[in-house]
Amino acid sequence: MKERHLEGYKKFKKEYFKDNKKLFDELALGQQPHSMIITCSDSRVSPVKILSATPGELFIARNIGNIVPPYDQTQGATQSAIEYAVNVLHVESLIILGHSACGACEHLYHEKTEDEKHIELSHVDDWLKLAYPAKHNSILECLNNPQKDRAEVTEKNNIQLSIQRLMTYPYVVEALEKGTMEIHGWWYNIGTGALEVYDYGDKKFRAI
Ligand SMILES: [Zn+2]
Repeated sequence: MKERHLEGYKKFKKEYFKDNKKLFDELALGQQPHSMIITCSDSRVSPVKILSATPGELFIARNIGNIVPPYDQTQGATQSAIEYAVNVLHVESLIILGHSACGACEHLYHEKTEDEKHIELSHVDDWLKLAYPAKHNSILECLNNPQKDRAEVTEKNNIQLSIQRLMTYPYVVEALEKGTMEIHGWWYNIGTGALEVYDYGDKKFRAI
């Protein structure tokens, strides 16, 4: 264990854990999170911090680019997490949390340079193919619109794509129809801390 890990753990155990012992006693018996968050693996995005949440509140699935694969296309961790959150935990909200300066979205446009040719990224490249529709929509959206920030447009289209993909999951649609669960798309600006929420009505992100 590295010193920085040990120091961090000691501080947690001595302070946060000790101060919240009652909460941890309850959590030891089980979890009842109110929301599932699908977000990027990016180290700068912390849903727990952003929402001032405590352990036990958020069921979080992270992957490169906060991508939701189509229901029937691939098998994997994200699908399993969605299935468990909706069918077993019965979360009230399912949130796709994307962010600014997303390396995954940037990678969609990146051509390997000579110096980078030896770096293996075959799994990353394969995974990010799932986000191509967001890239293609963004190229169209930015065409003849030089004032648009292509990176931000792609990040936001990618959030919308994940929401659309959620609609290929039969039990997600069922929960929405029954009104037992809501779906939201959020874009978080790392530098300013601003959070923008996707509005289905006019298909725009709005600052809150
Ligand atoms: Zn990212």
